[in-house]
Amino acid sequence: MANVIVLGTQWGDEGKGKIVDLITPSFDIVARYQGGHNAGHTVYVRGRKIVLHLIPSGILHPGTLCAIGNGVVISPQAFLEEVESLEKLGIEVGRNLVISRNAHLIMPYHPLLERIAEDRLGPRRIGTTHRGIGPAYEDKAGRRGIRAADLLDAAVLQELIRDNVAEKNPILERGGLPALNPDRIFEEYSGFAARLAPFVADEPLFLEGMIRKGKSVLFEGAQGAMLDVDHGTYPFVTSSSPSAGGACTGSGVGPNRIQAVLGITKAYTTRVGGGPLPTELSEANGRVLLERGDEFGATTGRPRRCGWFDAVAVSYSCRLNGVEHLALTKPDVLDALGEILICTEYTYKGTLLKSFPVESWVLAKAVPRYKKLPGWSPPLAKAKDFDRLPQAFKDYLRTIEDLVEARVGIISTGVEREDTIILPDRLDGILDLEKIKLDRTM
Ligand code: GDP
Repeated sequence: MANVIVLGTQWGDEGKGKIVDLITPSFDIVARYQGGHNAGHTVYVRGRKIVLHLIPSGILHPGTLCAIGNGVVISPQAFLEEVESLEKLGIEVGRNLVISRNAHLIMPYHPLLERIAEDRLGPRRIGTTHRGIGPAYEDKAGRRGIRAADLLDAAVLQELIRDNVAEKNPILERGGLPALNPDRIFEEYSGFAARLAPFVADEPLFLEGMIRKGKSVLFEGAQGAMLDVDHGTYPFVTSSSPSAGGACTGSGVGPNRIQAVLGITKAYTTRVGGGPLPTELSEANGRVLLERGDEFGATTGRPRRCGWFDAVAVSYSCRLNGVEHLALTKPDVLDALGEILICTEYTYKGTLLKSFPVESWVLAKAVPRYKKLPGWSPPLAKAKDFDRLPQAFKDYLRTIEDLVEARVGIISTGVEREDTIILPDRLDGILDLEKIKLDRTM
């Protein structure tokens, strides 16, 4: 079967967790390629809520192998806590998980540096999760980062920690925080090293070996393409590349090994943190989406900003990522609405914008133009049969497909695996549909 990238086409929280969990049986390996433990995938299996931050949700499927790629930044502490909580649920984490030896580590100074940087920005703050992800990527690009492989050599680790702490302490002190003790950090991370060592491996070699054996890989992105450090709504972005290109650099696999990109798109728009969001609704008008969609961050519990579906952004995202296939999530959240709006164009200073603006100050003043569609009845919630869906919803679906130039192959109508409609002829060659059983238990 094909090797497929699965990514969010908006600002994250599109419901990737559910879709990845659903289609995982079609793959032998799930490889995460960027982000850190700021991402939160929520998966419901038979009414049990499981939130995963770092470990791919493929871990919930016996027989599936998981990889954490070099593009991910790893907090050893968060990783080990996640392993423990999975083991408590009776889920095995051992030889089924590989961590890339060149994945960078989050160190104790990273969250502190992030807090200082965000405080300095004041009202212009990015609204990050304060988990040290951004500063860890800064150190990676600054060529002073500490990687998983460095954990395995005590002398190397000690020297790297000493150098980094010597550089960071003056910054912490200037920010009003106490200096850190490198020896204590070394002691703590040596403890982590012993527990992480069995997972650390040559991940690109592992993936290539598997692909040559005919195994299939699902490359899993976190956040969403609109938060990509290069192509997203800079500077209100994440520090890594959730876009399709990130799957290659973030896992060490060549682009010719990947056959398709499945974009996950929510039927409306949400965003956490700062930055422009053209279709954003006022608190009162967005409340119905916030509440019906349960739009509160899986990691932080923060309410998300909500707005109408933005076809300008999603079409940009589909083009950037080569998305031809979409999974549409949460249309059931729109069930209660008499009228549904879709943003089809932006104007700026009275002129129609021909493409998605990359300048945040333009996007902040972009005025959406909407197409109004009637709501539908009966409700979609938990619907399982495409033929019985209301015509008004099918028209809405067609409108979205035409605007973003991609076809919807999966429609999610609720939180459970079985609340899903799969359109097989639209996913031919990408997923092994025989293996995807909607009512599968763990
Ligand atoms: P992710 O990071 O992209 O996986 O997104 P989150 O996990 O933060 O948010 C998705 C939330 O929406 C989770 O609570 C899912 O269980 C839920 N969800 C996913 N698909 C659907 C759907 O089709 N309908 C509804 N109502 N909820 C959904």
